[in-house]
Amino acid sequence: MIRVLVTGGAGFLGSHLCERLVSDGHEVICLDNFGSGQKKNIEHLLGRDNFELIDRDVRTPSSLPSVDRIYHLASRASPEAFTEFPVKIALANTQGTRRLLDHARACDARMVYASTSEVYGDPKEHPQKETYNGNVNIRGVRGCYDESKRFGETLTVAYNRRYDLGVRTVRIFNTYGPRMRPDDGRVIPNFVTQALRGDDLTVYGDGQQTRSFCYVDDLIRGIVTLMKADETKYDVYNMGKQNERSIKELAEEVIEVTGASSEIVYESLPEDDPSQRKPDIKRSKEDLDWEPKVDLSEGLRETVSYFNSIVNST
Ligand code: NAD
Ligand code: UDP
Repeated sequence: MIRVLVTGGAGFLGSHLCERLVSDGHEVICLDNFGSGQKKNIEHLLGRDNFELIDRDVRTPSSLPSVDRIYHLASRASPEAFTEFPVKIALANTQGTRRLLDHARACDARMVYASTSEVYGDPKEHPQKETYNGNVNIRGVRGCYDESKRFGETLTVAYNRRYDLGVRTVRIFNTYGPRMRPDDGRVIPNFVTQALRGDDLTVYGDGQQTRSFCYVDDLIRGIVTLMKADETKYDVYNMGKQNERSIKELAEEVIEVTGASSEIVYESLPEDDPSQRKPDIKRSKEDLDWEPKVDLSEGLRETVSYFNSIVNST
């Protein structure tokens, strides 16, 4: 049986990943400090023989279980958190990553590091390829996140070079789905909960900025494929969907899917909000035979149905 450590395993992506690995028959150890994660995301796994929870901060020096594989996802990811928890976020991706790299080395474990499209900052290249070095404001409000993810990547490359570790990095583009928190602050949970409550949808800026939205099941399949590959041609892969939309278009689509009578209202644009984002996924397609399948409208319906049960019970 393969033993797998998932950091951030009680969060949105991490809990879907744990669920997938448990059902694949692996022995799964979920490490989370419940900063933005939720017990209810993994409650259904707690009784399973092949699932274990460690309630701990990834930065805390303490012994970790010996494992064969490590997925390092522990880090808050919502721009709303960047103002409140900048130090914790910066350290989860740097100090935390270092601890896990040392651990991977000690156990001879294969590791996947969850990086982000934010490493491209406000991109001047469009769509973004893995070879693009990005345009990040290291001193800006998002710097604690995007620059720490960049340094996390630098660490993985350094460990790969020095110790021949073979760590793989996935640069995740905006991913959404069930188990995001209604108060997460990211755009899809915001719009969906606003629509379901009959509130107006808050578009920041003029809504012409773009994002591309990947459904969670597609992303999880991608990162599991990346881990499973015995050899990969590169050590970094973009994963995301290429369905670029303006945020105003997204708001209109959410209103349509929910059937809400909400209006769109405009609020100020946060500092350093990237103006456009769309992944180039040629590498993932060619090397890993991976591409997303779920349409935005279908993914939104699943997401709305999840939020419906929460919004109506609170
Ligand atoms: P999330 O906030 O739902 O999950 C993050 C999890 O990490 C939470 O359970 C949180 O409690 C845990 N965590 C945070 N800091 C920790 C620490 N110091 N020690 C232990 N646990 C800690 O967010 P998510 O969307 O599931 O993101 C998961 C990972 O994927 C993050 O690394 C994020 O940067 C990356 N990512 C996500 C997206 C996306 O669109 N969802 C995009 C790019 C990158
Ligand atoms: N956004 C918005 N209204 C909201 C939340 C977010 O218009 O209620 C915008 C935000 O300014 C950004 C985009 O939606 O341009 C995506 O934001 P999110 O926080 O989901 O992720 P980001 O890609 O910025 O990290």
